[in-house]
Amino acid sequence: MPRTVYLNGEWLAEADAKVSIFDRGFLFADAIYEVTGVIGGKLLEYSGHTARLKRSLAELGIECPLTDEELLAVHREIVRRNDLNEGLIYLQISRGAADRDFAFPVDAQPTLVLFTQAKAVLDNPKVKTGISVALVPDERWGRRDIKTVQLLYPSMAKMKAAEVGADDAWLVEDGFVTEASSATSHIITTDGKLVTRGLSNAILHGITRLSVLDIARQAGIEVEERAFTPEEAKNAAEAFVTSATSFVLPVTRIDGQPIGTGVPGPLTAKLRQLYIEAKLATAI
Ligand code: PLP
Repeated sequence: MPRTVYLNGEWLAEADAKVSIFDRGFLFADAIYEVTGVIGGKLLEYSGHTARLKRSLAELGIECPLTDEELLAVHREIVRRNDLNEGLIYLQISRGAADRDFAFPVDAQPTLVLFTQAKAVLDNPKVKTGISVALVPDERWGRRDIKTVQLLYPSMAKMKAAEVGADDAWLVEDGFVTEASSATSHIITTDGKLVTRGLSNAILHGITRLSVLDIARQAGIEVEERAFTPEEAKNAAEAFVTSATSFVLPVTRIDGQPIGTGVPGPLTAKLRQLYIEAKLATAI
């Protein structure tokens, strides 16, 4: 069924939603985005995604075209209009259309787009098997903390992983894992500690990461926020990724080497269950 999408204040059939060829999102990747998970027609981690959206906009000096109340109302309305039970909402804001110039235009009106994707996010078959990842050099730009639509390198990394038969890429820079192509990377050491990279410009500040670290600490799991090497990851007891639509997903192979026993680990399974329970309880 064709979707109803939101474009700059209008509700349109997806085929009728058109953005200018002069839009800076198209010409310069001068745009940011968010992906919010939806279960049972409710928004997961909404306040976290909105907070990061505003941070990304502030870092680039783009005005948010809607107030907080309007933004929430549009999220609710797009779920209603598309009868979305489970899946995600994609939101993108670009600096808007202007004659092509590297300097930011002074008077462009931001372009705001939202659309939905229906997807069985809870019942993911990879939860049982885990995913395999390939190590790929991290050749992205230096401001990965801003969630921009500059996603060409992550797409290339995912293709490099697919070429060697892996499900995803884990990116490596200066001898340490940064993150996955579109998720945060974590390991559980053989003595039961959760190790994940600390926040900096080197990684996206994952909303799921933040909640999972909180949940892990509450469950008595020691958390170390520090960089880890590919070697440490390969020798870990467990490995997993987190993101808005994969939640907590086991990684069972890195560059072909089985992690731990080669099957999804117990702490990963526990964290996934606790995360989903907590987020369903607070979905709005
Ligand atoms: N890291 C990168 C590079 C991502 O693209 C994403 C999600 O798109 C994440 C991490 C996970 O972030 P979140 O948990 O907010 O979805």
